[in-house]
Amino acid sequence: VAKDQGRRTHRVFSPEMNYKVAEYMWLDTNLRKALDEHQLLLYYQPKISSGTGRVESVEALVRWYSPERGLIAPAHFIPYAEESGLIGPLGKWVMETAANQAVAWQQKGLNLRIAVNLSARQLSNNTLIPTFKEAMASSGMTRCLLDVELTESCLIEDESTAVSLIGQLQALGADVYLDDFGTGYSSLSQLARIPIDYIKLDQSFVRGISDNEVSQALVRAIIAVARTLNLKVVAEGVETENEERFVDEVGVDDKQGYFYAKPMPAEDLEHWLLNNDVLHPSK
Ligand code: C2E
Ligand code: MG
Ligand code: MG
Ligand code: MG
Repeated sequence: VAKDQGRRTHRVFSPEMNYKVAEYMWLDTNLRKALDEHQLLLYYQPKISSGTGRVESVEALVRWYSPERGLIAPAHFIPYAEESGLIGPLGKWVMETAANQAVAWQQKGLNLRIAVNLSARQLSNNTLIPTFKEAMASSGMTRCLLDVELTESCLIEDESTAVSLIGQLQALGADVYLDDFGTGYSSLSQLARIPIDYIKLDQSFVRGISDNEVSQALVRAIIAVARTLNLKVVAEGVETENEERFVDEVGVDDKQGYFYAKPMPAEDLEHWLLNNDVLHPSK
């Protein structure tokens, strides 16, 4: 009987499920430790202003340097962090680190705003605003240099709470970006209800745009609506000259992508800024 059950168990847990369970357990043990042992780091990717060609803001993207596995991308551990609740402390660390970095840059004469990415779960409890304020205060910021990027998944569950939080962040001086726009259930009419400052056109719209007339028409329509609503538009995932030509032609406000720069550690970004002469004049 025992043998039979053993076999049955074997059939129930496919190799793929075994992998998932093992991976979940690995993350469960190691991500918490990573937070405690400072194995997380932020990379920064510039956003280029179309008008001036200069960089006024960057996006913070978390990385995990695991001693066992090396550099791990957020797609691998953010979903687990969301599910386990670790996104709370992780998000707090991201805000604090970004705030400190913005102040450190300001002290070096680099006026860069930093946008942090938020998960839906970070909007669904009452800690977002206190955590954001605390990050600003403990960094010694005199005016807000932090912005936030949300995805539409942040708006689905409870739109009125999200709208209220967005307003509070803006009152603190943050710009709010709607990330990955156009990928999921987001609709153009939603843009009129959500008081955001920027939309980020998802990279799937930008990819190979010059061969795809339907995508081109969609992008033009999105930009027309954004203009009417006074929203700024960022193109993300610009990789090629053709893609740049198209986003320039349709008139986005900011551009981001490997064509300009990959996300990189703070120090590398400083060198990149200097070598590429894209710094805005300091005030
Ligand atoms: P996202 O916020 O939409 O960030 C854009 C992703 O596209 C980043 O991947 C970036 O490295 C990548 N990317 C930028 N330019 C290009 C390009 O030209 N081509 C291509 N193929 N990719 C490009 P990354 O860093 O792996 O981050 C993936 C996602 O993880 C982010 O998507 C964001 O949703 C999430 N994430 C990253 N950091 C954080 C964080 O601190 N907190 C939370 N909650 N989520 C985060
Ligand atoms: Mg983002
Ligand atoms: Mg995005
Ligand atoms: Mg994206």
